Parts: sequence; structure tokens; C-alpha cells
Amino acid sequence: MKTWNILYRGTLSSCNYACAYCPFAKTKNTREELAADAADLQRFVQWVAGRKERIGILFTPWGEALIRKYYQEAMTELSHMPNVYRVAIQTNLSCKTAWMNKVNKETFALWTTYHPTEISRAKFIKKCKELDENAIRYSVGFVGFKEQVKELEALRNDLNPSVYLWVNAYKREANYYDAALLEQIEAVDPLFRYNTTYHPSEGLPCQAGETSFSLDGDGNMRRCHFIKKYIGNIYKEGFEEKLFARPCSNKTCGCHIGYVHLENLKLYEVYGDGVLERIPRQQNY
Ligand code: SF4
Ligand code: SF4
Repeated sequence: MKTWNILYRGTLSSCNYACAYCPFAKTKNTREELAADAADLQRFVQWVAGRKERIGILFTPWGEALIRKYYQEAMTELSHMPNVYRVAIQTNLSCKTAWMNKVNKETFALWTTYHPTEISRAKFIKKCKELDENAIRYSVGFVGFKEQVKELEALRNDLNPSVYLWVNAYKREANYYDAALLEQIEAVDPLFRYNTTYHPSEGLPCQAGETSFSLDGDGNMRRCHFIKKYIGNIYKEGFEEKLFARPCSNKTCGCHIGYVHLENLKLYEVYGDGVLERIPRQQNY
């Protein structure tokens, strides 16, 4: 059976947080816009239900989606579909967690991020404990600003030791990390170095466009979020033919959700079925 990893980004573009470095989530959605996003999402859910492939989905909204009931319901529904091996979402974890009682815990996962300017560590950890009590699979992420490394270490200390804590590198300034700082962060996230560089990718084989693809709310497919060209539409006949092996056309690839599919990095071996929610196979991270 073929496996497809799908990155879905609908039109939702609002967030209940206001992180200073965030490039999106500076808009408010109207009731009509949210209704249109909900309709697009439901169409996608029904499409997944009718497929025969083994499907993994990562929702990568331009904002916070889990505070919306229609995303909670869509994820719950998807998690119970026999052809869905994973349904995950990027979230700030500000939503209530009781609704997760109804999800299929074998397939459901969260890519959470802790934003210390927006929530206290104590409150974030309380939410994580609710996930632990509910046996929800999740990773926790943190943006590696120099001045927040102590906070990162404190977070590691407070989190359940079995939860993987990843760190995203701040890459807008060249040589931002010196060797000592790199080591300090690596002590928390041994995979951090993968995220500190823009990996050369032009001409190299990548699963994006073959077994992995990005979708918008209208069903338009792109190889990944970083190559703008559309390759097809899942609601049109023959879209499967648009999925085939081809080399990357961008110079570099710098985000986890992209470079994990770059074949020379062999990161499928590191993450296995946790590739979408960013949880490595080994528990010693
Ligand atoms: S929580 Fe995420 S989407 Fe919302 S403002 Fe912060 S970085 Fe942006
Ligand atoms: S290497 Fe990155 S930019 Fe290139 S096709 Fe793969 S995911 Fe897209």
C-alpha cells in the first residue's frame, strides 16, 4: 500500500497569541472566512475517507486552529479512519484538552510549541500534564533565542522526561550560535544541528512531490510549502499521476517540515512514523 504524507494549510490565518517574531497570525478571520475554512476542511476529511492509501496528515495552519471546534472535530474523525496512520497539527496548546478523550490515541499526535512571551511555563506544563494523563502523543518545541536558553533548560527539567523537546534555530542572523551555545542547546535537543542550517537541496532527490505533498483548502497540490508551483488538484481526476520522483528545484531547504523529506539526510530513519509530529523513534532524545 502506498503511503502519502500530506501537509494541509487552509485559509485560517488568525491566532490567539501574538509572538513578536511570527510572520503570520496578524489577521482576524471573519465568521464567513471561518465558515469557508470549515467547509474546505470537511471536504478534505471526506476525501481522505474515500482513499485507499495509507495517509499521514500534518495540519500547518497560518495561525492557531485547535481553538476552533471544527478542527477538533475533523482531527477526531480523521484519527478513527482505518487508512489514516497519523493525524497531527502544529499548535500552541492553548486549547482545552478534554475533547481529546474521543480521539484515536494510536494515530493522533500534536506538534506543540511553547511560546514563553505568551504563556507562563507553569501553565504550559500543566497543559502537557493533561496530555500525559490522557496518553496523547506530542512533541514540544521552542525557538532557540540566545537569551532564552535558560528558559529552555528549565522547560526540559519540568517536562515529562519521555517527551521529546526540539529546538528550532534562529536563522535570520548568520553565525548566531557560537560553539559553546550549540553544545548547550544540543544537550537538550541532540537533533538541533539539523535545524541550524539551510540544507543544500537543488538537484537532490526529495520525497516531496512523490510520497509527500502540500495542500490548500481548494485541494491545490504543491510539492511542499516552499515551492510555489502547483502540481495538481486532489479533487480533479488523474491527480495521482502528478506524484512522482523529481529533484528539488530550490537552492536550499531550512525547515523540518521540508528537509525531513530530503533523501540524503536519511531522516525517515531517525523519525520513522513520528516524522510529521517531529518525534524521533529513539526515546533517548
Ligand atoms: S502561537 Fe504560533 S501562529 Fe500564533 S503568533 Fe505565536 S508563532 Fe504565530
Ligand atoms: S528539499 Fe525542501 S524545498 Fe526541496 S522539494 Fe524537498 S521539501 Fe521542497
